[in-house]
Amino acid sequence: MKRHLASPRWLPILLTSIALAAAGTVAAQQPAPAAGADRTAQFDAVLVRVVGPSSMDSSFADYDANLERLRILLPPGDHARDIQFRSVYCGSSRWKDPVRGLAYSDVALRRAQAAGDLASEGRSRFCRVGFLSDLKGGKEALAEAERLVALLQNSSERQLFAEALSLRGSLLSDMGEQAKALLDFQRARASYRESGIEHEVDALLMLTAVAYRRIGDWEQAERYFTHAIDRMDEQRDWERAITYNIQLGYLYDESGDPHKAEAPLQHALAVARNHEDESSTASAQLALATIFIDQGKFDAALDHLSQANAFTRTQEGSWNADVMALLSGQALAGLGQHQQALAQYRIAQPLIERDGNERYLATLFRARSASEEALGNTTAALADYKRYSDLQTELQRKMRFQQNRLLEYEYEIRRRDFENRRLRAEASSRLQQVKTLESVRRWQRLAILLGALLVAVLVWLALRQWRKSLALRTLAMTDPLTGVASRRAIEAALDRALALAASSGSPLSILMLDLDHFKSVNDRHGHAAGDRVLREAAEVWKHHLREHDRLGRIGGEEFLILCPDTSLENAKVVAARLLEATRTHALAGIAPAPSLTVSIGIAQAEPVDTREALIARADAALYRAKDLGRNRAEV
Ligand code: GH3
Ligand code: MG
Ligand code: MG
Repeated sequence: MKRHLASPRWLPILLTSIALAAAGTVAAQQPAPAAGADRTAQFDAVLVRVVGPSSMDSSFADYDANLERLRILLPPGDHARDIQFRSVYCGSSRWKDPVRGLAYSDVALRRAQAAGDLASEGRSRFCRVGFLSDLKGGKEALAEAERLVALLQNSSERQLFAEALSLRGSLLSDMGEQAKALLDFQRARASYRESGIEHEVDALLMLTAVAYRRIGDWEQAERYFTHAIDRMDEQRDWERAITYNIQLGYLYDESGDPHKAEAPLQHALAVARNHEDESSTASAQLALATIFIDQGKFDAALDHLSQANAFTRTQEGSWNADVMALLSGQALAGLGQHQQALAQYRIAQPLIERDGNERYLATLFRARSASEEALGNTTAALADYKRYSDLQTELQRKMRFQQNRLLEYEYEIRRRDFENRRLRAEASSRLQQVKTLESVRRWQRLAILLGALLVAVLVWLALRQWRKSLALRTLAMTDPLTGVASRRAIEAALDRALALAASSGSPLSILMLDLDHFKSVNDRHGHAAGDRVLREAAEVWKHHLREHDRLGRIGGEEFLILCPDTSLENAKVVAARLLEATRTHALAGIAPAPSLTVSIGIAQAEPVDTREALIARADAALYRAKDLGRNRAEV
């Protein structure tokens, strides 16, 4: 059952139902729950529609249907999802009895707390605010809303935090604290933006409009109501559009322009009738009755009241009985039926007093005073007028107080809004900087890595090249069979020795050696044995040479020895030692052991000698040694 929209208590209830009831369109058919993971995924998807950002855009007509779907889909034994479920199911319209609803919410709250599920704890408290407001009144509801706001203050649940602020603001607004309420609405708007909800949330627009209306700022109120109606038209949410149009009508009437109120109210009535929404139709008629009274059209007012009354009779309880009685009294009084009017006021007064709506009470006192006066009851009329006047003064005083407060808060609101925007801009530019820096660093690291890799490859290549050329050089300068200097190396050494001898004047002698009858070694023992003999001979000679002497192989079994600082006489001594060593060397592993001898040609360098000339002389000496019977040295 819909409450009359002018009732001061409709807001928290409407808000609770909007915040909790918002949900996407539900398929008409309830699908049978799937098994296992599929069912879990379906549950999660529906839950997101009930509590996520998209819930802000959708009508609350399907909320209960979605909750029932959740109930069916809830995977048995899934403790975590059971907690989530309870925290939204507590907002179901099935809790017609607030005592049971509160009990259910309490269980949901305790379980969420035990599980450390912050969002579910918040939602359970949300439900509690609604039920406490019904059962214990605004003060206790506000205390719970304060706990809710504190709980979510620094959490990442920005949407829920925004809803919590809206809720607290609506309670504050109902209790007359318009300035504080507007501050909450402002913060809620910022929080919605933080949670990614960029558009205006219509419930928030409405609450803001109502707070401005209550403070007497008609222009701001009109601005917000109009904005909310536009949003509803965009979303084709006719149900809430009716509500907001009725609100706008009341606003115009209250601001002293009952004629302007007629258009939105007639529109609301037409839409409600069009959709055969009886409760909305009755609400629109009640509002129209109000403005007709203010326009002096009492018959029309009574006509609408009786139509609204017809709806009342189909309802259990007393649907807006207070306002109905008050308006009926005013209309009857307008038609001069003051006795009947007083009878209506007698019905209205206790109901209005119970609700505590001071504006209605003021209206009642003023209207009753007029009727008493018309009936000649001057004393009663005066007493009522005094009550009206006092109440009106008090209402005006409260309004002015709140207006002043708002001026103070507005500064704070602007400052916070500015600060928020600045912080957001700073955060996003910092994030951008960090991102740029990170990508630069990534590229730098990659470049360094690639550079290092390149250097490593180059070093490796260079090293390989160097080793290769070193090996080649060694190869070229060394005789591979005997390991002594190659022909090229010994010739180069001879050139250097000649130059040195020429410049220093020290003597230089060379010995040219040729093994005797070496061919027969090969012939008798094979080439491999010949090789071994060559190696052993070179080894033996090296052994008997001095440190500065150099041995090189210049042909098959021909060798050259350089003896720096060596005169011809001394060279002869060396040659004799070599002849002796060769002759006495026992060749290992060759049987029968061949006798090994060598012939040596000696020559001493002249100051003007070339390498070729010197070698030619040594060669000639060698031939002489061969000719003279071998195994000897000749100069
Ligand atoms: P002579 O006393 O007149 O020097 O007689 P010879 O046999 O030593 O001289 P000849 O020039 O007739 O023969 C040289 C032989 O040395 C011919 C060749 O088979 C052998 N020879 C040359 N180079 C190598 C080599 O690297 N290994 C072996 N096993 N034999 C070689
Ligand atoms: Mg030879
Ligand atoms: Mg020979």
